Amino acid sequence: MTDLPARRLLLVHAHPDDESINNGATMAKYASEGALVTLVTCTLGEEGEVIPAELAHLAPDQEDCLGPHRIGELAAAMKELGVADHRFLGGPARFRDSGMMGVGQNHRDGAFWNTDLDEAAPYLVEVIRSVRPQVMVAYDPDGGYGHPDHIQAHQVAMRAADLAAEPAFRRDLGEPYTIPKIYWNRVPRSVAEEGFARLRETGTDFPGIADVGDVPGVVDDELITAEIDGEPYREQKTAAMRAHATQIAVDGPFFALSNNLGQPLFVREYYQLVRGDSGAPDGERETDLFAGVDGLVDGAGTDVGEGAHS
Ligand SMILES: [Zn+2]
Repeated sequence: MTDLPARRLLLVHAHPDDESINNGATMAKYASEGALVTLVTCTLGEEGEVIPAELAHLAPDQEDCLGPHRIGELAAAMKELGVADHRFLGGPARFRDSGMMGVGQNHRDGAFWNTDLDEAAPYLVEVIRSVRPQVMVAYDPDGGYGHPDHIQAHQVAMRAADLAAEPAFRRDLGEPYTIPKIYWNRVPRSVAEEGFARLRETGTDFPGIADVGDVPGVVDDELITAEIDGEPYREQKTAAMRAHATQIAVDGPFFALSNNLGQPLFVREYYQLVRGDSGAPDGERETDLFAGVDGLVDGAGTDVGEGAHS
């Protein structure tokens, strides 16, 4: 473990592009500060709709080769964010995109939604025990917006965090490790509403405008416990989102998914701490996900050791 950077952040996402939309600025920030940023993506996003007409042939109902293409998009996005450690749960194409809730693909063999938690979680346990992150970022129990792969990604992340800490569980996957802090991705309602107001005022080239209900993870402001000022990383986040060209169209401070409905591109990113202790004074939001983690000097990320584990 001696070669690991002092600060280690693990993010668990369902499809390529979710990481850049939700956490692009956070990932760029911590990567630029020398932290280890590890992204685990659970599927290749094979069921995504393709935006550019010239790439329509990749779609699942045509050549069905969107997955491999999105591996390349994700790699390009991670290059923009400066994130070198990105992996697919169980390896590329181990689990397949399940499509939106209610479609036949939900129940296909190999679909992530159709996979037993006990089959999927150990792959993440192995990552947790080798990376030993102080912070994990995942979705809330609804997956942010009810997509089956996002719900499953939440369940796998939380189960894996528990199993990784369990001394009796699969010692072949590494030494037991407890993640000190776990966050869920969030957007404060006031910020989402403000973003859409600005969009309506400014206007965009997109044919329509989404609404607050289309943004994953929106909750009442009181539930937010941490916010990362991503303004210095705006260009990196925007470039990472552009790299997911089959899924995202960017127009200045706004973007659209395949539904072509404009929505705000948030560079300030928000989180709800659900496990571990806040490093901020009572009633204040944290501005650093590592705040209060034992053994870390605030902000400096200097490694002062963390015990003598293997
Ligand atoms: Zn997704």
